[in-house]
Amino acid sequence: ADTTAVLAVQGAFIEHERMLSRLGQRCVELRQAFDLDQAFDRLVLPGGESTVQGKLLEELGMLDGLRRRIEEGMPVLATCAGLILLAARLDAHDDRGTPRLGTLDVLVQRNAYGRQLGSFRTEGKVAGIGLVPMTFIRAPYVMEAGPGVEVLAQVDGRAVAVRQGSQLALAFHPELDESVLVHEAFLAI
Ligand code: GLN
Repeated sequence: ADTTAVLAVQGAFIEHERMLSRLGQRCVELRQAFDLDQAFDRLVLPGGESTVQGKLLEELGMLDGLRRRIEEGMPVLATCAGLILLAARLDAHDDRGTPRLGTLDVLVQRNAYGRQLGSFRTEGKVAGIGLVPMTFIRAPYVMEAGPGVEVLAQVDGRAVAVRQGSQLALAFHPELDESVLVHEAFLAI
């Protein structure tokens, strides 16, 4: 069986591990640069706080190793803060120069749903995956997607799921709901 490495410096990584374990995946946690030396086949970037994650990845010396694997084509599933970490560009008023991976050709706005609507649930169709529950927690959305990026889902006219090659990035949190469809689709990349 393959091994999925889950970035575990901050945020909702346990929930991804539970979901992947249910699907029979072996999971390892990436907590420090040293952890990148082990063998793994896929990568999960969980939700949480992208500014904290970006700073930690830089301090821990993990950015380059992660970026190299993604650029080499390793499949990656990024949710929420993970989407922000992957984004090549952030909306100007969000961008405080926090380090990111920047491998996904999109422009992202953080905390895009305002205070009252900070968190909400809905259900939507994701192209190639199906109808899935969508839990948004102070979620970002994709404002612009480059030519190599396919928009897989929209909510209220905003792109909330995209794919570019082996990178699958979502504004919502499939690891917090019962449906395993998104994780299954990720494991099929
Ligand atoms: N608002 C968070 C950020 O900007 C993302 C929220 C989440 O991952 N649920 O990083």
